[in-house]
Amino acid sequence: MTGARRSAGGVAADDSIHIRNALVWPAWDAEPIRNGAILISGGRIEKVGRFTARAAVELDAGGALAMPGFIHAHVHLCQTLFRGLAEDRPLPRWLRERIWPLEAAHDDESLAVSARLACAEMIRGGTTGFASMETVRGTGATLAAVAEVKLPGLVGHCLMDETGGYRTLSVPLDDALAECDVLMEHARAHPWLDLAVAPRFALSCSRGNLIEAARYARSRGLRLHTHASEQPDEVEWVRRRIGMDNVEYLHVCGISGPDVILAHCVQCGPAEQALLAQTGSHVAHCPSSNFKLGAGIAPIPEMLAAGVRVALGADAAPCNNRLDMFAEMRLAGLMQSARRGPGVLAARAIVRMATEGGAAALGWGEVAGRIEEGRRADVILVELEDPSVLPDDDPASAVVYAAHPGAVAVTIAAGRILYENGEFTTLDIERLRADAAVQRQRLLRRAGLA
Ligand SMILES: [Zn+2]
Repeated sequence: MTGARRSAGGVAADDSIHIRNALVWPAWDAEPIRNGAILISGGRIEKVGRFTARAAVELDAGGALAMPGFIHAHVHLCQTLFRGLAEDRPLPRWLRERIWPLEAAHDDESLAVSARLACAEMIRGGTTGFASMETVRGTGATLAAVAEVKLPGLVGHCLMDETGGYRTLSVPLDDALAECDVLMEHARAHPWLDLAVAPRFALSCSRGNLIEAARYARSRGLRLHTHASEQPDEVEWVRRRIGMDNVEYLHVCGISGPDVILAHCVQCGPAEQALLAQTGSHVAHCPSSNFKLGAGIAPIPEMLAAGVRVALGADAAPCNNRLDMFAEMRLAGLMQSARRGPGVLAARAIVRMATEGGAAALGWGEVAGRIEEGRRADVILVELEDPSVLPDDDPASAVVYAAHPGAVAVTIAAGRILYENGEFTTLDIERLRADAAVQRQRLLRRAGLA
């Protein structure tokens, strides 16, 4: 890289940061500013444009692209330790043979290490906020780990009360919601952390569970996060058992609206797309996961044309196997070109999904997703001099199709430098490597898989 370097100062959220000599791209629909600058103060954007200033931290971008950090709208932090452990299985076997036994075997230590590992990968790749779905127990350990790392996030506590023959993860609704009350207080004690209520999907939750989850979330001002219409078998099962399409069923149960994130929505026809648009629900599109688990290609251009709000996510390490927003953006574009022809989903529209769309999904529509005065300072520096990106200087095509996590020089979330030129400021990466190996082995033994 040519020189994004911090010349002085610390990394605390209340330190002022002056980024200079950057190609500032404030938002997906804005024009980039050459030799631009950004002034950050008190965790927020104070000024954007061409100006000089002094700050506690001077950061020479060396011509790098300064853009809003990515918002990862669907991830499972708790599954990061399972990377590579659930290969080549269709979704039902993927869940029953690997993911559920491994989730059931987690303890607080393995959950914390799994969360730290996910945060490290996301921060390294320019992610400055995430919406996760965790497991049915131990979400407090995940919240504590994320709070230490200081990555803004919406951590979802998973609800399941119908698991077929797999009872270990089934938790009575009253117990799950009592746990949510405790978790909500825990999350809200930290800046930019919040709890979501996350019924897993229609197949593992009773109708009462879905209805009460929605009622509970609204009574507490919490967001809802679930999986919807990922696989053909799933929507067929709902049609047979309930007599409705899946998104329609979730809507009837109260799981639709501007406070709801629905991951996947691959199997959604025009009527359900219209319902998603009318209710203002957010779709978290997960291209790699959909390909790897054979779900298909979500009709994203149709959804956008219908007015659906779309965000982007990588889903989980065992079904991707990366938590890499560059990979998701690139595949989101490629899969639609293959499906409907080049140009049907423009690079800028994809960047919108990965930034502003994600911010809206997490409830941060007014505070994140764009580099604008007064917004939270979530800024990444992407090295356009990287050999894989040269000589593309159009930020949209460079970021969507050419760049990769290795081109991220600096990640700033909520005004705090979390990653800079290979170094994490809130994570001990060597210790994390050792912890991940130990915790994964213990987890496999507890799950009876080692
Ligand atoms: Zn998922």
